[in-house]
Amino acid sequence: METKIFQPFLLLFLAISIPCLSDASHEEHARKTMEEFSGYPADSPPHHYSFSPSSLSVDIQGLQRQIEELSSFSDAPAPAVTRILYSQKDVLARRYIKSLMEQAGLSIHEDAVGNIFGRWGGTEAALSAVATGSHIDAIPYSGKYDGVIGVLGAIEAINVLKRSGFQPKRSLEVIMFTSEEPTRFGISCLGSRLLAGNEELAIALKQAVDGKNISFLEAARSAGYAVHEDDLSSVFLKKDYYFSFIELHIEQGPILEEEGIPIGIVTAIAAPASISIDFEGNGGHAGAVLMPARNDAGLAAAELALAVEKHVLDSGSFDTVGTVGVMELHPGAVNSIPSRTHVEIDTRDIDEERRNVVVNKIHQSAVRIAENRGVKLSKFKIVNQDPPALSSNSIISTMREATKQLNVSFKLMISRAYHDSLFMARISPMGMIFIPCYKGYSHKPEEFASAQDIANGVKVLALTLAKLSAE
Ligand SMILES: [Zn+2]
Repeated sequence: METKIFQPFLLLFLAISIPCLSDASHEEHARKTMEEFSGYPADSPPHHYSFSPSSLSVDIQGLQRQIEELSSFSDAPAPAVTRILYSQKDVLARRYIKSLMEQAGLSIHEDAVGNIFGRWGGTEAALSAVATGSHIDAIPYSGKYDGVIGVLGAIEAINVLKRSGFQPKRSLEVIMFTSEEPTRFGISCLGSRLLAGNEELAIALKQAVDGKNISFLEAARSAGYAVHEDDLSSVFLKKDYYFSFIELHIEQGPILEEEGIPIGIVTAIAAPASISIDFEGNGGHAGAVLMPARNDAGLAAAELALAVEKHVLDSGSFDTVGTVGVMELHPGAVNSIPSRTHVEIDTRDIDEERRNVVVNKIHQSAVRIAENRGVKLSKFKIVNQDPPALSSNSIISTMREATKQLNVSFKLMISRAYHDSLFMARISPMGMIFIPCYKGYSHKPEEFASAQDIANGVKVLALTLAKLSAE
């Protein structure tokens, strides 16, 4: 800090007093004088985070007020929140976020699909930045905290650092991602998938329409984004564009609250594969058709559901999970043998290979069951099969160090839900911080995180950003 204060005076003094020296010896002389004066080698980096972690203070009342204000931009009555991509309420909420970024002194830009970036320029602006952020869109009748904590909390983390007198070396950037939720166009993490350079998505979006047949491009334009279909690939960021990316988020599960631990440090994000299956049989009268003559599509679906459970358990890992969340019987009458069934399966793991083994076994079972029961497997479609993401070890250890210095306990854990971080991990080393939420509730109005837990999360985020910025 001292070198920074006195350098201009020294340079001025030297410029006036020794104008006759050559440039090289002038510089040499200046360097020596500076070193004598400051006690540091002149070319060593300034001490960017010489503040003490205990001086970090979160304006929790202000932050809670912002959470309330943001939740008022909603198409559902409070306490529920509905905020759909590019709706009028979404546009107002975006304006609100930009105003907070402006108040925090960040320089703002938006890309063609409305990902919003607020940057605090570092002293070494040529170095790649450290980024943090999340989303503010909300599925119908959900809560105030999902995603929001990672956007408002990130802006507050910047304010915390500014108040403490910190100066970033690498720039710090807050990102508000467009449409993490798949509500309007059926695509989750739309903004972060595009940032990660998803060509297929950029092509698919040119044709995408919502439930009311409004095209993605039209909807984006109505929200003030001048999207030409060729602009979509302009959103892509290069690999290693960021030095690191951190997301603060509510856990959306009950573990931290049950164990009374204030911080979760995420080591990996499990990724789902989802599968859509149709069986077709002959149907018939529930009384008239005898058992040996049946081709029951309903029993095929039921047998497959049990096979899914078996294949998942056979993986031998706690981290493999599988769910048959949809099972529709046609015609759905008590006295009619099901002639058609539609089944949707979600399976997740942090190990991609192990998850894909399960997907293959489900396929084999579906084929075998159809054969044995004389029904037709008329559809077996893998809807999506995203790779899981691992957090960066060096970011994990930076976070551990931050929690230690702030004297808050933590637990290493896996995120079994999807986040923008899953896709940011494709272009940047990634890390996530979880805070507890009431009973693990999420995606419903009862979603809640306490002031203390939010404040802890913001502090850990702020200190982690400070440390990474100085690297
Ligand atoms: Zn979220």
